Amino acid sequence: MNDMNHRETMKFDVVIVGGGPAGLSAAIRLKQLDPDRHVCLLDKGAEIGAHILSGALFDPRALDELIPDWQARNAPLETPVREDRLLFLTAQRAWRIPNFFLPTPLRNTGNKGNYIVSLGTLCRWLALEAETLGVEIYPGFAATDILYGTDEKVAGVIAGGMELHAPYTLFAEGCRGHLGKQLEVRFNLRQGVTPQVYRLGLKELWEIPPDLHQRGLALHMIGWPLIGLRGARAHGGGFLYHYGDNLVSIGLVAGLAGPNELSPFEEFQRLKTHPEIRCFLEGGRRIAYGARTLVAGGLSALPSVNFPGGALIGDDAGFLNPARLKGIHTAMKSGLLAAEQTPFRESWLYEELRGARPWHLPLWKSNGRSDPFKPDHRLTFDKPSSVFLSNTHHEENQPCHLRLTIHDRCPSENNGTTRQTGTYCSKFIQPARTMQDYCPAGVYEYNHAPLPLVNAQNCLHCKACDIQGNAEWSPPQGGNGPIYNGM
Ligand SMILES: Cc1cc2nc3c(=O)[nH]c(=O)nc-3n(C[C@H](O)[C@H](O)[C@H](O)COP(=O)(O)OP(=O)(O)OC[C@H]3O[C@@H](n4cnc5c(N)ncnc54)[C@H](O)[C@@H]3O)c2cc1C
Repeated sequence: MNDMNHRETMKFDVVIVGGGPAGLSAAIRLKQLDPDRHVCLLDKGAEIGAHILSGALFDPRALDELIPDWQARNAPLETPVREDRLLFLTAQRAWRIPNFFLPTPLRNTGNKGNYIVSLGTLCRWLALEAETLGVEIYPGFAATDILYGTDEKVAGVIAGGMELHAPYTLFAEGCRGHLGKQLEVRFNLRQGVTPQVYRLGLKELWEIPPDLHQRGLALHMIGWPLIGLRGARAHGGGFLYHYGDNLVSIGLVAGLAGPNELSPFEEFQRLKTHPEIRCFLEGGRRIAYGARTLVAGGLSALPSVNFPGGALIGDDAGFLNPARLKGIHTAMKSGLLAAEQTPFRESWLYEELRGARPWHLPLWKSNGRSDPFKPDHRLTFDKPSSVFLSNTHHEENQPCHLRLTIHDRCPSENNGTTRQTGTYCSKFIQPARTMQDYCPAGVYEYNHAPLPLVNAQNCLHCKACDIQGNAEWSPPQGGNGPIYNGM
Protein backbone atom coordinates (compact mmCIF):
# COMPACT_ATOMS: atom_id res chain seq x y z
CA MET A 1 0.00 0.00 0.00
CA ASN A 2 1.31 3.51 -0.78
CA ASP A 3 0.62 6.64 1.24
CA MET A 4 0.84 10.31 0.30
CA ASN A 5 4.64 10.30 0.81
CA HIS A 6 4.84 7.46 -1.71
CA ARG A 7 6.42 5.29 0.93
CA GLU A 8 5.22 1.75 1.02
CA THR A 9 3.20 1.10 4.19
CA MET A 10 2.38 -2.07 6.06
CA LYS A 11 -0.09 -2.37 8.91
CA PHE A 12 0.31 -4.55 11.99
CA ASP A 13 -1.34 -4.84 15.40
CA VAL A 14 2.04 -4.54 17.14
CA VAL A 15 5.48 -3.60 15.80
CA ILE A 16 8.53 -4.56 17.87
CA VAL A 17 11.89 -2.87 17.24
CA GLY A 18 14.75 -5.18 18.25
CA GLY A 19 15.13 -8.94 18.32
CA GLY A 20 17.01 -9.37 21.59
CA PRO A 21 15.58 -11.23 24.60
CA ALA A 22 13.16 -8.37 25.39
CA GLY A 23 11.64 -8.02 21.92
CA LEU A 24 11.45 -11.74 21.21
CA SER A 25 9.83 -12.52 24.57
CA ALA A 26 7.21 -9.82 24.01
CA ALA A 27 6.49 -11.16 20.51
CA ILE A 28 6.05 -14.73 21.75
CA ARG A 29 3.76 -13.69 24.61
CA LEU A 30 1.63 -11.52 22.33
CA LYS A 31 0.99 -14.48 20.04
CA GLN A 32 0.41 -16.87 22.95
CA LEU A 33 -2.28 -14.52 24.24
CA ASP A 34 -3.93 -13.96 20.86
CA PRO A 35 -2.82 -16.08 17.90
CA ASP A 36 -4.72 -13.81 15.49
CA ARG A 37 -2.71 -10.76 16.40
CA HIS A 38 -0.54 -9.47 13.56
CA VAL A 39 2.90 -9.02 15.17
CA CYS A 40 6.02 -7.84 13.34
CA LEU A 41 9.57 -7.78 14.77
CA LEU A 42 12.52 -5.97 13.14
CA ASP A 43 16.20 -6.29 13.81
CA LYS A 44 19.04 -4.29 12.31
CA GLY A 45 21.37 -7.31 12.33
CA ALA A 46 21.73 -9.34 9.14
CA GLU A 47 20.10 -12.20 11.06
CA ILE A 48 18.66 -12.59 14.55
CA GLY A 49 21.58 -12.80 16.97
CA ALA A 50 24.05 -11.07 14.62
CA HIS A 51 24.23 -7.99 16.89
CA ILE A 52 23.76 -9.81 20.17
CA LEU A 53 26.63 -9.91 22.65
CA SER A 54 26.41 -10.89 26.30
CA GLY A 55 28.40 -12.83 28.97
CA ALA A 56 26.32 -14.80 29.60
CA LEU A 57 25.10 -16.24 32.86
CA PHE A 58 21.41 -16.80 32.42
CA ASP A 59 18.73 -16.95 35.11
CA PRO A 60 15.91 -18.98 33.51
CA ARG A 61 13.11 -17.53 35.66
CA ALA A 62 11.42 -15.55 32.89
CA LEU A 63 11.97 -18.34 30.36
CA ASP A 64 10.20 -20.74 32.75
CA GLU A 65 7.18 -18.45 32.55
CA LEU A 66 7.35 -17.89 28.81
CA ILE A 67 8.02 -21.43 27.57
CA PRO A 68 7.67 -23.80 30.55
CA ASP A 69 8.65 -26.85 28.48
CA TRP A 70 11.84 -25.24 27.15
CA GLN A 71 13.88 -28.29 28.05
CA ALA A 72 11.70 -30.58 25.92
CA ARG A 73 11.87 -28.00 23.12
CA ASN A 74 15.66 -28.14 23.10
CA ALA A 75 16.39 -24.62 24.29
CA PRO A 76 20.17 -24.07 24.07
CA LEU A 77 20.76 -24.12 27.83
CA GLU A 78 23.32 -26.89 28.00
CA THR A 79 25.75 -25.80 30.68
CA PRO A 80 24.48 -25.34 34.24
CA VAL A 81 26.83 -23.30 36.43
CA ARG A 82 28.63 -25.85 38.60
CA GLU A 83 31.05 -23.58 40.44
CA ASP A 84 31.25 -19.89 41.28
CA ARG A 85 34.73 -18.48 41.82
CA LEU A 86 35.55 -14.85 42.63
CA LEU A 87 39.18 -13.70 42.48
CA PHE A 88 40.74 -10.48 43.64
CA LEU A 89 43.70 -9.79 41.38
CA THR A 90 46.86 -7.78 41.72
CA ALA A 91 49.31 -7.62 38.81
CA GLN A 92 50.91 -10.98 39.67
CA ARG A 93 48.82 -12.57 42.37
CA ALA A 94 45.26 -13.67 43.01
CA TRP A 95 43.24 -14.18 46.15
CA ARG A 96 40.16 -16.33 46.04
CA ILE A 97 37.28 -14.78 47.96
CA PRO A 98 35.66 -17.63 49.90
CA ASN A 99 32.20 -18.43 48.51
CA PHE A 100 30.90 -17.89 52.03
CA PHE A 101 31.52 -14.14 51.50
CA LEU A 102 30.10 -14.08 47.99
CA PRO A 103 27.20 -11.60 47.87
CA THR A 104 23.96 -13.54 47.28
CA PRO A 105 23.21 -11.75 44.00
CA LEU A 106 26.48 -13.07 42.60
CA ARG A 107 25.74 -16.74 43.36
CA ASN A 108 24.84 -18.77 40.31
CA THR A 109 24.70 -22.33 41.61
CA GLY A 110 22.16 -24.12 43.80
CA ASN A 111 18.75 -25.66 43.21
CA LYS A 112 17.43 -22.99 40.91
CA GLY A 113 20.80 -22.43 39.36
CA ASN A 114 21.80 -20.42 36.36
CA TYR A 115 23.19 -21.50 33.02
CA ILE A 116 26.14 -20.39 30.93
CA VAL A 117 24.78 -19.59 27.48
CA SER A 118 25.46 -17.82 24.25
CA LEU A 119 22.75 -15.16 24.16
CA GLY A 120 22.99 -14.97 20.36
CA THR A 121 22.19 -18.70 20.15
CA LEU A 122 19.37 -18.35 22.67
CA CYS A 123 17.87 -15.50 20.63
CA ARG A 124 18.05 -17.55 17.43
CA TRP A 125 16.10 -20.31 19.23
CA LEU A 126 13.55 -17.80 20.59
CA ALA A 127 13.12 -16.42 17.06
CA LEU A 128 12.26 -19.90 15.77
CA GLU A 129 9.69 -20.27 18.56
CA ALA A 130 8.23 -16.87 17.66
CA GLU A 131 8.04 -17.73 13.95
CA THR A 132 6.30 -21.02 14.73
CA LEU A 133 3.63 -18.96 16.49
CA GLY A 134 3.30 -16.71 13.44
CA VAL A 135 5.39 -13.65 14.36
CA GLU A 136 6.71 -11.97 11.21
CA ILE A 137 10.43 -11.45 11.74
CA TYR A 138 12.42 -9.13 9.49
CA PRO A 139 16.17 -9.18 10.15
CA GLY A 140 18.27 -6.69 8.20
CA PHE A 141 15.74 -3.91 8.86
CA ALA A 142 16.88 -0.98 11.00
CA ALA A 143 14.12 1.25 12.35
CA THR A 144 15.42 4.73 11.65
CA ASP A 145 12.51 7.03 12.57
CA ILE A 146 9.37 7.08 14.66
CA LEU A 147 5.98 7.78 13.10
CA TYR A 148 3.56 9.96 15.08
CA GLY A 149 -0.17 10.19 14.48
CA THR A 150 -2.10 13.46 14.40
CA ASP A 151 -2.99 12.77 18.04
CA GLU A 152 0.79 12.77 18.89
CA LYS A 153 0.62 9.05 19.62
CA VAL A 154 3.40 6.83 18.32
CA ALA A 155 1.97 5.22 15.19
CA GLY A 156 4.83 2.94 14.10
CA VAL A 157 8.31 3.29 12.63
CA ILE A 158 10.13 3.79 9.36
CA ALA A 159 12.47 0.95 8.41
CA GLY A 160 14.14 0.17 5.11
CA GLY A 161 12.31 3.13 3.54
CA MET A 162 8.90 1.62 4.47
CA GLU A 163 6.32 2.81 6.96
CA LEU A 164 5.30 0.14 9.44
CA HIS A 165 2.06 1.25 11.09
CA ALA A 166 0.68 -0.15 14.34
CA PRO A 167 -1.52 1.10 17.16
CA TYR A 168 1.15 -0.20 19.54
CA THR A 169 4.96 -0.20 19.11
CA LEU A 170 7.45 -1.77 21.52
CA PHE A 171 11.01 -0.44 21.51
CA ALA A 172 13.53 -3.13 22.47
CA GLU A 173 16.73 -1.74 20.94
CA GLY A 174 18.94 -2.62 23.90
CA CYS A 175 21.30 -0.24 25.69
CA ARG A 176 21.19 3.37 24.39
CA GLY A 177 18.46 2.81 21.84
CA HIS A 178 18.57 5.36 19.07
CA LEU A 179 14.78 5.71 19.02
CA GLY A 180 14.37 5.09 22.75
CA LYS A 181 16.57 8.12 23.40
CA GLN A 182 14.26 10.30 21.27
CA LEU A 183 11.14 8.97 23.00
CA GLU A 184 12.59 9.79 26.42
CA VAL A 185 12.92 13.42 25.35
CA ARG A 186 9.65 13.69 23.44
CA PHE A 187 7.52 12.28 26.27
CA ASN A 188 9.71 13.57 29.08
CA LEU A 189 10.13 10.03 30.37
CA ARG A 190 13.20 10.71 32.49
CA GLN A 191 11.61 13.34 34.67
CA GLY A 192 12.41 12.70 38.33
CA VAL A 193 14.84 9.83 37.77
CA THR A 194 18.59 9.81 38.21
CA PRO A 195 20.80 9.85 35.08
CA GLN A 196 21.48 6.45 33.54
CA VAL A 197 24.81 4.77 34.31
CA TYR A 198 26.64 2.87 31.57
CA ARG A 199 29.41 0.32 31.28
CA LEU A 200 31.33 -0.95 28.29
CA GLY A 201 31.66 -4.71 27.94
CA LEU A 202 34.25 -6.41 25.74
CA LYS A 203 34.22 -10.10 25.06
CA GLU A 204 36.18 -12.82 23.29
CA LEU A 205 35.21 -16.38 22.62
CA TRP A 206 37.97 -19.00 22.85
CA GLU A 207 38.21 -22.67 22.09
CA ILE A 208 40.64 -24.20 24.59
CA PRO A 209 42.35 -27.59 24.98
CA PRO A 210 39.94 -30.16 26.55
CA ASP A 211 42.28 -30.82 29.50
CA LEU A 212 42.05 -27.14 30.53
CA HIS A 213 38.28 -26.93 30.20
CA GLN A 214 36.19 -26.96 33.39
CA ARG A 215 32.63 -27.04 32.05
CA GLY A 216 30.30 -25.01 34.26
CA LEU A 217 32.98 -22.90 35.99
CA ALA A 218 31.95 -19.22 36.29
CA LEU A 219 34.97 -17.16 37.27
CA HIS A 220 34.77 -13.45 38.10
CA MET A 221 37.73 -11.16 38.62
CA ILE A 222 37.96 -7.83 40.43
CA GLY A 223 40.92 -5.56 41.16
CA TRP A 224 43.75 -5.49 38.62
CA PRO A 225 43.97 -4.22 35.89
CA LEU A 226 41.18 -1.65 36.39
CA ILE A 227 42.08 -0.64 39.90
CA GLY A 228 45.37 1.07 40.33
CA LEU A 229 45.53 3.14 37.19
CA ARG A 230 46.46 6.71 37.94
CA GLY A 231 43.39 8.85 37.99
CA ALA A 232 41.29 6.21 36.20
CA ARG A 233 37.75 6.14 37.41
CA ALA A 234 36.78 2.73 36.19
CA HIS A 235 34.46 0.44 38.04
CA GLY A 236 34.16 -3.04 36.74
CA GLY A 237 35.73 -6.44 36.52
CA GLY A 238 36.35 -9.48 34.39
CA PHE A 239 34.53 -12.72 33.70
CA LEU A 240 35.55 -16.10 32.33
CA TYR A 241 32.94 -18.80 31.75
CA HIS A 242 33.64 -22.40 30.68
CA TYR A 243 30.77 -23.85 28.70
CA GLY A 244 29.73 -26.04 25.78
CA ASP A 245 32.38 -28.07 24.00
CA ASN A 246 35.68 -26.59 25.20
CA LEU A 247 34.45 -23.01 24.84
CA VAL A 248 35.46 -20.14 27.09
CA SER A 249 33.78 -16.77 27.11
CA ILE A 250 36.11 -14.15 28.55
CA GLY A 251 35.41 -10.46 28.98
CA LEU A 252 35.87 -7.21 30.82
CA VAL A 253 33.17 -4.78 31.88
CA ALA A 254 34.45 -1.27 32.64
CA GLY A 255 32.80 1.96 33.75
CA LEU A 256 32.09 4.69 31.23
CA ALA A 257 31.98 7.81 33.30
CA GLY A 258 33.25 11.01 31.79
CA PRO A 259 36.62 11.45 30.13
CA ASN A 260 39.36 9.30 31.56
CA GLU A 261 42.63 7.84 30.40
CA LEU A 262 41.39 4.31 30.17
CA SER A 263 41.47 2.08 27.13
CA PRO A 264 39.10 -0.74 28.06
CA PHE A 265 40.40 -2.69 25.06
CA GLU A 266 43.99 -2.60 26.32
CA GLU A 267 42.97 -3.39 29.89
CA PHE A 268 41.02 -6.37 28.59
CA GLN A 269 44.04 -7.65 26.67
CA ARG A 270 46.17 -7.08 29.78
CA LEU A 271 43.73 -9.03 31.95
CA LYS A 272 44.37 -12.15 29.85
CA THR A 273 48.08 -12.05 30.71
CA HIS A 274 47.44 -12.61 34.43
CA PRO A 275 48.87 -15.99 35.52
CA GLU A 276 45.44 -17.09 36.84
CA ILE A 277 43.80 -16.34 33.49
CA ARG A 278 46.43 -17.14 30.89
CA CYS A 279 46.69 -20.70 32.22
CA PHE A 280 43.25 -21.39 30.73
CA LEU A 281 43.89 -19.76 27.36
CA GLU A 282 47.41 -20.83 26.43
CA GLY A 283 47.25 -23.39 23.65
CA GLY A 284 43.73 -22.22 22.82
CA ARG A 285 42.37 -20.31 19.84
CA ARG A 286 40.43 -17.04 19.82
CA ILE A 287 37.37 -17.42 17.60
CA ALA A 288 35.32 -14.25 18.14
CA TYR A 289 35.53 -10.69 19.47
CA GLY A 290 32.98 -7.96 20.12
CA ALA A 291 31.87 -5.13 22.39
CA ARG A 292 28.62 -3.62 23.61
CA THR A 293 27.59 -1.12 26.26
CA LEU A 294 25.22 -2.02 29.08
CA VAL A 295 22.99 -0.07 31.44
CA ALA A 296 23.76 -0.21 35.13
CA GLY A 297 21.67 2.47 36.80
CA GLY A 298 19.02 0.12 38.21
CA LEU A 299 15.61 1.15 39.48
CA SER A 300 16.51 4.72 40.40
CA ALA A 301 17.53 5.43 36.79
CA LEU A 302 14.55 3.66 35.22
CA PRO A 303 12.44 6.14 33.22
CA SER A 304 8.67 5.94 32.80
CA VAL A 305 8.37 3.20 30.21
CA ASN A 306 4.86 3.76 28.85
CA PHE A 307 3.85 6.53 26.44
CA PRO A 308 0.92 6.96 24.07
CA GLY A 309 1.13 4.24 21.45
CA GLY A 310 3.89 2.12 22.93
CA ALA A 311 6.48 1.27 25.56
CA LEU A 312 10.21 0.83 26.15
CA ILE A 313 11.33 -2.64 27.23
CA GLY A 314 14.61 -4.37 28.13
CA ASP A 315 17.83 -2.38 28.20
CA ASP A 316 16.24 0.30 26.01
CA ALA A 317 14.48 1.29 29.23
CA GLY A 318 17.22 0.12 31.64
CA PHE A 319 15.83 -3.01 33.29
CA LEU A 320 19.22 -4.68 33.93
CA ASN A 321 19.76 -5.71 37.55
CA PRO A 322 23.07 -4.00 38.44
CA ALA A 323 23.59 -5.98 41.65
CA ARG A 324 23.53 -9.29 39.77
CA LEU A 325 25.01 -7.83 36.58
CA LYS A 326 22.24 -9.64 34.74
CA GLY A 327 19.88 -8.16 32.22
CA ILE A 328 18.65 -11.08 30.11
CA HIS A 329 15.93 -12.42 32.40
CA THR A 330 14.89 -8.87 33.33
CA ALA A 331 14.69 -7.88 29.64
CA MET A 332 12.56 -10.96 28.97
CA LYS A 333 10.28 -10.28 31.92
CA SER A 334 9.80 -6.65 30.88
CA GLY A 335 8.73 -7.96 27.44
CA LEU A 336 6.22 -10.31 29.07
CA LEU A 337 4.81 -7.53 31.22
CA ALA A 338 4.38 -5.22 28.22
CA ALA A 339 2.64 -7.94 26.20
CA GLU A 340 0.32 -8.85 29.08
CA GLN A 341 -0.16 -5.20 30.10
CA THR A 342 0.66 -6.26 33.67
CA PRO A 343 1.77 -3.32 35.83
CA PHE A 344 5.52 -3.43 36.54
CA ARG A 345 5.00 -2.70 40.23
CA GLU A 346 2.95 -5.87 40.64
CA SER A 347 5.68 -8.09 39.26
CA TRP A 348 8.68 -9.97 40.68
CA LEU A 349 10.80 -7.80 38.40
CA TYR A 350 9.96 -4.74 40.48
CA GLU A 351 10.72 -6.65 43.69
CA GLU A 352 14.04 -7.86 42.25
CA LEU A 353 15.15 -4.40 41.11
CA ARG A 354 13.93 -2.75 44.31
CA GLY A 355 16.37 -4.81 46.36
CA ALA A 356 19.23 -4.38 43.88
CA ARG A 357 22.01 -2.06 44.81
CA PRO A 358 24.86 -1.76 42.32
CA TRP A 359 28.07 -2.72 44.06
CA HIS A 360 31.11 -0.60 43.48
CA LEU A 361 34.58 -1.31 44.64
CA PRO A 362 36.48 1.53 46.23
CA LEU A 363 39.08 2.89 43.84
CA TRP A 364 42.43 4.24 44.82
CA LYS A 365 45.16 6.06 43.00
CA SER A 366 48.49 4.47 42.40
CA ASN A 367 51.63 5.93 40.93
CA GLY A 368 51.87 5.48 37.23
CA ARG A 369 49.93 4.02 34.43
CA SER A 370 50.22 0.42 33.29
CA ASP A 371 53.16 -0.47 31.05
CA PRO A 372 52.66 0.25 27.36
CA PHE A 373 50.62 -2.51 25.77
CA LYS A 374 52.12 -4.67 23.02
CA PRO A 375 50.08 -7.52 21.57
CA ASP A 376 51.80 -10.90 21.15
CA HIS A 377 49.14 -12.12 18.65
CA ARG A 378 48.73 -15.40 20.52
CA LEU A 379 47.14 -14.34 23.79
CA THR A 380 46.79 -10.60 23.25
CA PHE A 381 45.80 -8.80 20.08
CA ASP A 382 45.44 -5.39 18.47
CA LYS A 383 42.17 -3.74 17.48
CA PRO A 384 42.30 -4.39 13.72
CA SER A 385 42.72 -8.16 14.07
CA SER A 386 40.00 -8.17 16.74
CA VAL A 387 37.52 -6.22 14.63
CA PHE A 388 38.24 -8.62 11.78
CA LEU A 389 36.87 -11.45 13.96
CA SER A 390 33.60 -9.56 14.52
CA ASN A 391 32.80 -9.79 10.77
CA THR A 392 31.71 -6.16 10.82
CA HIS A 393 30.85 -4.58 7.51
CA HIS A 394 29.27 -1.29 6.38
CA GLU A 395 28.32 -0.43 2.81
CA GLU A 396 30.43 2.51 1.69
CA ASN A 397 27.82 4.30 -0.40
CA GLN A 398 25.73 5.51 2.55
CA PRO A 399 25.91 8.61 4.74
CA CYS A 400 28.26 8.12 7.71
CA HIS A 401 26.19 6.80 10.63
CA LEU A 402 28.43 8.57 13.16
CA ARG A 403 28.26 12.36 13.45
CA LEU A 404 30.97 13.96 15.54
CA THR A 405 29.53 16.25 18.18
CA ILE A 406 32.69 17.10 20.07
CA HIS A 407 32.62 20.66 18.67
CA ASP A 408 29.38 21.20 20.54
CA ARG A 409 31.34 21.13 23.78
CA CYS A 410 33.59 24.06 22.96
CA PRO A 411 32.79 27.47 24.43
CA SER A 412 30.74 29.51 21.98
CA GLU A 413 33.41 32.21 21.51
CA ASN A 414 35.72 29.62 19.94
CA ASN A 415 33.09 27.80 17.99
CA GLY A 416 32.91 28.35 14.27
CA THR A 417 36.01 30.53 13.91
CA THR A 418 38.37 27.87 15.16
CA ARG A 419 37.79 25.52 12.28
CA GLN A 420 38.70 28.14 9.71
CA THR A 421 41.64 29.78 11.45
CA GLY A 422 43.26 26.59 12.64
CA THR A 423 43.59 27.81 16.24
CA TYR A 424 41.79 25.18 18.14
CA CYS A 425 40.05 25.20 21.44
CA SER A 426 42.05 22.87 23.68
CA LYS A 427 38.80 21.17 24.65
CA PHE A 428 38.73 19.56 21.21
CA ILE A 429 41.94 17.67 21.73
CA GLN A 430 40.96 15.82 24.91
CA PRO A 431 37.84 14.16 23.48
CA ALA A 432 39.62 13.26 20.25
CA ARG A 433 42.29 11.45 22.26
CA THR A 434 39.92 9.68 24.61
CA MET A 435 37.69 8.54 21.74
CA GLN A 436 40.64 6.66 20.30
CA ASP A 437 41.22 5.12 23.74
CA TYR A 438 37.74 4.00 24.65
CA CYS A 439 36.41 2.96 21.22
CA PRO A 440 36.80 -0.84 21.22
CA ALA A 441 36.79 -1.03 17.41
CA GLY A 442 39.38 1.53 16.30
CA VAL A 443 36.69 3.69 14.70
CA TYR A 444 38.33 6.89 15.96
CA GLU A 445 41.97 7.65 15.21
CA TYR A 446 43.71 10.54 16.93
CA ASN A 447 46.24 12.14 14.58
CA HIS A 448 47.14 15.30 16.53
CA ALA A 449 44.27 17.18 14.90
CA PRO A 450 41.27 18.37 16.89
CA LEU A 451 38.95 15.96 15.13
CA PRO A 452 39.72 12.27 15.01
CA LEU A 453 39.59 10.32 11.77
CA VAL A 454 36.38 8.30 11.66
CA ASN A 455 36.62 4.74 10.34
CA ALA A 456 32.87 4.14 10.50
CA GLN A 457 33.13 0.84 8.65
CA ASN A 458 34.72 -0.71 11.78
CA CYS A 459 31.81 0.20 14.06
CA LEU A 460 30.53 -2.59 16.34
CA HIS A 461 27.38 -0.62 17.30
CA CYS A 462 28.47 -0.58 20.95
CA LYS A 463 27.36 3.10 21.22
CA ALA A 464 30.05 4.14 23.71
CA CYS A 465 30.79 7.32 21.66
CA ASP A 466 27.12 8.30 21.72
CA ILE A 467 26.98 7.79 25.49
CA GLN A 468 30.15 9.82 25.99
CA GLY A 469 28.56 12.63 24.01
CA ASN A 470 31.39 12.74 21.46
CA ALA A 471 29.38 11.46 18.50
CA GLU A 472 25.80 10.79 17.57
CA TRP A 473 25.11 7.23 16.51
CA SER A 474 22.27 6.51 14.10
CA PRO A 475 21.43 3.18 12.50
CA PRO A 476 23.29 2.48 9.26
CA GLN A 477 21.73 0.48 6.47
CA GLY A 478 19.93 -2.63 7.79
CA GLY A 479 22.10 -5.72 7.88
CA ASN A 480 25.30 -3.69 8.31
CA GLY A 481 27.48 -3.94 11.42
CA PRO A 482 28.92 -7.00 13.09
CA ILE A 483 27.84 -10.56 12.40
CA TYR A 484 28.47 -12.26 15.70
CA ASN A 485 28.25 -15.99 15.89
CA GLY A 486 27.67 -17.53 19.28
CA MET A 487 28.25 -14.34 21.30
C1 LIG B 1 29.75 -7.92 27.98
C2 LIG B 1 28.36 -8.14 28.52
C3 LIG B 1 28.14 -9.16 29.43
C4 LIG B 1 26.86 -9.39 29.94
N1 LIG B 1 26.67 -10.45 30.78
C5 LIG B 1 25.42 -10.76 31.17
C6 LIG B 1 25.19 -11.94 31.92
O1 LIG B 1 26.11 -12.72 32.22
N2 LIG B 1 23.91 -12.22 32.30
C7 LIG B 1 22.87 -11.40 31.97
O2 LIG B 1 21.72 -11.71 32.33
N3 LIG B 1 23.07 -10.24 31.29
C8 LIG B 1 24.31 -9.93 30.86
N4 LIG B 1 24.52 -8.80 30.10
C9 LIG B 1 23.39 -7.89 29.83
C10 LIG B 1 22.44 -8.47 28.79
O3 LIG B 1 23.15 -8.92 27.66
C11 LIG B 1 21.44 -7.38 28.38
O4 LIG B 1 20.84 -6.87 29.54
C12 LIG B 1 20.36 -7.94 27.46
O5 LIG B 1 20.94 -8.46 26.28
C13 LIG B 1 19.33 -6.87 27.11
O6 LIG B 1 18.39 -7.41 26.22
P1 LIG B 1 17.56 -6.47 25.22
O7 LIG B 1 16.66 -7.37 24.45
O8 LIG B 1 16.99 -5.35 25.97
O9 LIG B 1 18.65 -5.82 24.24
P2 LIG B 1 19.76 -6.46 23.31
O10 LIG B 1 20.13 -7.82 23.76
O11 LIG B 1 20.84 -5.44 23.21
O12 LIG B 1 19.05 -6.59 21.88
C14 LIG B 1 18.66 -5.46 21.16
C15 LIG B 1 18.40 -5.86 19.71
O13 LIG B 1 17.79 -4.75 19.06
C16 LIG B 1 18.36 -4.56 17.78
N5 LIG B 1 18.20 -3.14 17.43
C17 LIG B 1 18.71 -2.06 18.08
N6 LIG B 1 18.32 -0.92 17.50
C18 LIG B 1 17.54 -1.28 16.44
C19 LIG B 1 16.85 -0.52 15.45
N7 LIG B 1 16.85 0.82 15.45
N8 LIG B 1 16.17 -1.21 14.49
C20 LIG B 1 16.15 -2.57 14.49
N9 LIG B 1 16.80 -3.32 15.42
C21 LIG B 1 17.48 -2.69 16.39
C22 LIG B 1 19.81 -4.99 17.95
O14 LIG B 1 20.35 -5.40 16.71
C23 LIG B 1 19.67 -6.16 18.93
O15 LIG B 1 19.53 -7.39 18.24
C24 LIG B 1 25.78 -8.55 29.57
C25 LIG B 1 25.99 -7.52 28.65
C26 LIG B 1 27.26 -7.32 28.12
C27 LIG B 1 27.48 -6.23 27.10
